Amino acid sequence: MNDARETNEAGFGVYIHWPFCASKCPYCDFNSHVREHIDEARFATALRAEIDHFAAETKGRRVTSIFFGGGTPSLMAPETVAAAIDRVRRSWDTADDVEITLEANPSSAEAGRFKGYRDAGVNRLSLGVQALDDDALTFLGRAHDAAQARAALTMAQATFSRFSFDMIYARPRHTTADWLAELHDALALGGDHLSLYQLTLEPGTPFHARAARGELVVPDGDHAAALYEATQEALADAGLAAYEISNHARPGAQSRHNLTYWRAGDYVGIGPGAHGRLTVDGRTTALRQRRAPEAWLKDVETKGHGTTEREPVEPDARATEILMMGLRLTEGVPLARIKARSGLDFNEVVSSDRLAPLVDGGLLTLNDSHIGTTPAGRRVLDSVLAALLA
Ligand code: SF4
Repeated sequence: MNDARETNEAGFGVYIHWPFCASKCPYCDFNSHVREHIDEARFATALRAEIDHFAAETKGRRVTSIFFGGGTPSLMAPETVAAAIDRVRRSWDTADDVEITLEANPSSAEAGRFKGYRDAGVNRLSLGVQALDDDALTFLGRAHDAAQARAALTMAQATFSRFSFDMIYARPRHTTADWLAELHDALALGGDHLSLYQLTLEPGTPFHARAARGELVVPDGDHAAALYEATQEALADAGLAAYEISNHARPGAQSRHNLTYWRAGDYVGIGPGAHGRLTVDGRTTALRQRRAPEAWLKDVETKGHGTTEREPVEPDARATEILMMGLRLTEGVPLARIKARSGLDFNEVVSSDRLAPLVDGGLLTLNDSHIGTTPAGRRVLDSVLAALLA
């Protein structure tokens, strides 16, 4: 695969981060902030300024996806979303089938804006449902209940041609039978894409502190594995096989934006704390925008951008990230991608001593053109990567 084809396959994405939430969920370590007052017009102007900044730097690229993430982008007025999409379209060539996703929470106020987002140009909604059980939603600190989640899903289905929703499983005392019942309930609500995450205890979150005090215990070991296996089987039976560790889709309904990340494509990150990867003449640069919303705003207003880190990614680090991202996918990683995007041959990156036991142990597959994970390998991907790349 030559460099140009590889670049086209991976796409070029624009990520736009809205850093505000109505309240902070106790498991969340995203760059999200609660503010009593937000000067949305000022932030909207700054987002457009940063779009201009990155468009000037990436002239000639063709945008294949735009993704509004957060935080809670469904707290943005549809006019703010429309203005950002319009600016992207004016600043870059955009693919005819450009995918434009917005993450939304199911509260009724946000669901009331769905038509406004569709009219703004959003063509895919990603709903943070998380659970279809009121007690679980209370435990997760979510502002919506199960009835609101169902109503939002019904409205999403009526409004958007494509929608996805997220759920969190492996909650405390979560039995396989309870989870499968909830999952079947979720599948009946439609959608061509589901993201299903095991609850993780991220350092610095209230859940992590509660777990450290012994007040919160999540399934681990065999039970977590059983939950994962049951999830894979139920979704495959429903026609939404996994295409990534936590993501399931009907054929053709995969998230193109996230595929750009996993296939090591380039993307710009607009807004507080957003990350980007840009490749010029075969050399990749990692970028990060200032995290604190007000500091980012001030930087954009004074300098035209909020970039605080801009580091070259050395070839061995680039090859490592290509493998770390690509091995999440069931399609695996073309060996040509490693050469095209890092300049290194596969055997310069991975030694046969490390590879052989993982292939023999049924965790990885390797042929002349691809390396990939088996289902067993994806279930323990962190250990596989540690053994492969350490
Ligand atoms: S709504 Fe999402 S981004 Fe906001 S605090 Fe909750 S999990 Fe974090």
